[in-house]
Amino acid sequence: MTANPARPAEPAASGRRPLIAGNWKMWGTRAEARQYCSRLLGFLPDASRRPADVGVCGPFTALDVLVEELRDAEVLVAAQNMHAEETGAFTGEVSAPMLAELGVQGVVLGHSERREYDNESDRALQEKVAAALAAGLQPILCVGESEEEHEAGDTQRKLRHQVQEGLAKVPDEQLPVVAIAYEPIWAIGTGLTATPEQAQTAIAFIRALVGDRSKERAERVRILYGGSVKPDNAPEILAQPDVDGALVGGASLDPAGLARIATAVPER
Ligand code: PEP
Repeated sequence: MTANPARPAEPAASGRRPLIAGNWKMWGTRAEARQYCSRLLGFLPDASRRPADVGVCGPFTALDVLVEELRDAEVLVAAQNMHAEETGAFTGEVSAPMLAELGVQGVVLGHSERREYDNESDRALQEKVAAALAAGLQPILCVGESEEEHEAGDTQRKLRHQVQEGLAKVPDEQLPVVAIAYEPIWAIGTGLTATPEQAQTAIAFIRALVGDRSKERAERVRILYGGSVKPDNAPEILAQPDVDGALVGGASLDPAGLARIATAVPER
């Protein structure tokens, strides 16, 4: 496997370094990716002056462009999915070692759109999270409740199931390498955002679930909020003590917007 020099250090025990990651979903030709990177780097301060790690989660076809353009600027590059097996008869799939060979550093797993449209199950995600870690990729595991579950007061039950299943094959010592994104489905792409208090409550609950495995390591796990985060609402959400950053969909397609969100992270 190719070494991955731009891989961010595991957050220090003294504090979690926030992560702001843009999820392009199915956007971005290679030409668009190149243009985006040059604009993004124009808006971002040097890595040493950023209050948060910054990442871009692109489509498979643009990942090598993103790695080439962003590696020196210490912007994390992540894929949006992968297969759990390393190789085999899985036509159309891409494995974790294939991503790592490109210099990709992370991978979004279990995004609600993949759970809904591609029937991604918690059991399959359990294998994917372990496979990503084995290949040296940082998994960004997405969890979150639907509108019906939210209204039925079922949020905690849903989160417990998704978090426990998703992390079941992660050894305790690797827990801090996993980032978790709390993304209430009712807030994704809808313009509705969880209130800062709702985000804090759900994320503190997720941290407590990880704490059932290892309290000390749960304090080092980055847990992001995702769901209609925009430059205007980001500062209040990111000021919550357990919110360690954001997974940003629509607003990240504007590199100025992603940079504004990343630079709005309060110092910790
Ligand atoms: C997402 O795609 O993970 C997301 C949170 O999307 P949006 O910011 O557009 O709601």
